[in-house]
Amino acid sequence: MEPADSIRRLGFSRWYERRLIEAHAWLISGIFCITAIAACMEELAFRGSILRLLAYVIVVMASGAIGIYGLSRYQQLLSEAEQLGEQATCRACGAYARFRLISGSHVRCRKCSNEWCLIGTI
Ligand SMILES: [Zn+2]
Repeated sequence: MEPADSIRRLGFSRWYERRLIEAHAWLISGIFCITAIAACMEELAFRGSILRLLAYVIVVMASGAIGIYGLSRYQQLLSEAEQLGEQATCRACGAYARFRLISGSHVRCRKCSNEWCLIGTI
């Protein structure tokens, strides 16, 4: 029900825009994590104290976990937005994103009253 509730509350265009913004924020987070890993690996030397080595290992592992999650979330959000974006055009009149949700998955065109399934096709 998550996309339906958000689309009903915000409208499709705003929902789509926010999904893209959120997806790209995750992409940027992933890139920051990759940069942090590279910087820590460059600084990683086995001659310093054990605490310093342990701190770098923790930062690398945390950045790796956050980076993997962020990049997978980016891909997930982007593919969901693209799939719903492809279904957002009315097949009868060609209007894009001009519909109203009439149930959890079906929408009705505001221009010609054509109905179709928006969310169930994912
Ligand atoms: Zn229409």
